Amino acid sequence: MSVPANHLNPPAGLDVARVRADFPILQRTVHGKPLVYLDTAASAQRPEAVIKATDDFYRRLNANIHRGVHTLSQEATDAYEGARDKMAAFLNAPSRDELVFTRGTTEAINLVAQAWLRPRLNPGDEIIVSQMEHHANIVPWQMLCESTGAVLKPIPINDAGELDLDAYHAMLNDRVKLVGMVHVSNALGTVNPIAELARAAREKGIPLLVDGAQSLPHQAVDVQALGCTFFCFSGHKMYGPTGIGGLWAPMEVLAAMEPYQGGGEMIKKVTFERTEYNPPPGKFEAGTPNIAGAVGLGAAVDYLLDLGMDQVAAYEAWLLQAATARLEAVEGLQVVGTAAHKAGVISFTFDDIHPHDIGTIIDHHGVAIRTGHHCAMPAIARFGLPATARASLGIYNTLEEFDVLAGALEQVRDMFR
Ligand code: PMP
Repeated sequence: MSVPANHLNPPAGLDVARVRADFPILQRTVHGKPLVYLDTAASAQRPEAVIKATDDFYRRLNANIHRGVHTLSQEATDAYEGARDKMAAFLNAPSRDELVFTRGTTEAINLVAQAWLRPRLNPGDEIIVSQMEHHANIVPWQMLCESTGAVLKPIPINDAGELDLDAYHAMLNDRVKLVGMVHVSNALGTVNPIAELARAAREKGIPLLVDGAQSLPHQAVDVQALGCTFFCFSGHKMYGPTGIGGLWAPMEVLAAMEPYQGGGEMIKKVTFERTEYNPPPGKFEAGTPNIAGAVGLGAAVDYLLDLGMDQVAAYEAWLLQAATARLEAVEGLQVVGTAAHKAGVISFTFDDIHPHDIGTIIDHHGVAIRTGHHCAMPAIARFGLPATARASLGIYNTLEEFDVLAGALEQVRDMFR
């Protein structure tokens, strides 16, 4: 991340005033104050383009997909499959058929755990994940270990919240059947060097799964350049709808995977004797999917591409650095997670005031932050803490909003003194 000479000058390229105007919710007030939304890591807000795309779908195209011969069904199918094209291209996937729609990151990881890893796991095998994982990249593996006798091992992180690379390399042994790694930590903001980690794993024949929930909104992602085997993501983190996300994996991996759930859509032919499955991605999309959600996700991709992911990344890198400096100037505030390479997230403690008290009080200033363990209990516990307060940012945030947060925090401290 390059450090700008002047905190007050954001890089040219992203017109934040225009971006803000695209997000209707930013017009509202909370407790009579303008909304300062600093909880994008939990769920981003939606631009008008995404809201309109889902609204249009229900108004003009709504029908079930794939099976219908009538016009609406065909148009709905085109819209759904068109969203797959957009998402696959956004990830630079070699083929659109390698993009499986799921409910989100959580379902994508569970899909890999059950459909790919379970049949390949033996007692004593190992799965390694970092100590900074979201529970979505811990619990599915733990469940698998409990029923197979495999072992889940955490890769330690240092005091800055960075992966211990020496420990990682030492842990890559013959027993390891999968590495699960978050791209950007939602609790600490750390950006992990996925390409380097994936290369080392690949050299040992070990697949690496990326939890990309927090990276897609902040930077361009190219799954081929990353060299990972699985990439999982959620639409709602990248300004799209909830209930839609996906899994990317190379075709030979998807083709070798068992189906996850059985039902309609995923079959070619069913008799009581046996069922023939559709090829991927249909094989993993049993039942009626979130059609409008996929269409909205496609609109989110268009929106981000229109802004330009390089512009998004440059603006956010500046804002993160400037906002961190602004918050660190608040007496008693301690940033948790100080990795050299970070994105989107500032976790902090503030004197010994409980984060829930901070969050509740500053809500009355219109400021929305998240408090707690951020679904990453082991990461927060690593710092000897039960909880932190977390401000997370997106394309619509400004440094002035962090001034509001800092001012609100000063008032919280006054209340507790
Ligand atoms: N991984 C990370 C890093 C996350 O931040 C989240 C959402 N907080 C998830 C996984 C889970 O995503 P979802 O709830 O959309 O499945």
